[in-house]
Amino acid sequence: MIINTFARNNYFMKPSHIEHIGIAVKNLEKSIKYYEEVLGLECYNIEEVKDQKVKTAFFKVGQTKIELLESTDPEGPIGKFIEKKGEGVHHIAFAVNDIENKLKQAEEKGIRLIDKTSRKGAEGLDIAFLHPKSTFGVLTELCEDKNK
Ligand code: ZN
Repeated sequence: MIINTFARNNYFMKPSHIEHIGIAVKNLEKSIKYYEEVLGLECYNIEEVKDQKVKTAFFKVGQTKIELLESTDPEGPIGKFIEKKGEGVHHIAFAVNDIENKLKQAEEKGIRLIDKTSRKGAEGLDIAFLHPKSTFGVLTELCEDKNK
């Protein structure tokens, strides 16, 4: 039986890579300077995601991105996070395919979902969050690039 379960296609998330690491910052411009002038990475996109009350800046490190998040509203999720914990790593995003199914399966396995279905995130990706209480303290994002 166990073998059958494991053989089931799509039974695991099986992320292909870490799509991005989300980092909460107080000041986007100042932090962009650090990534550009110290790390030598190039900011290739700045985008406001109204839905999440953030302004984001993106850098590429290989296949993985760094997503800086500045709150546009102290009552938004990033505003609250910074007030509670200060600046720092906010979430890790895994690239998956078939995101709706993966969410269903996570829920079946007892994982608490923040988003029951995916929604549009930055860069046109379909995204959904898993609750950090179910993921050992790491706010986890799943994302799928359906434009690929
Ligand atoms: Zn993210």
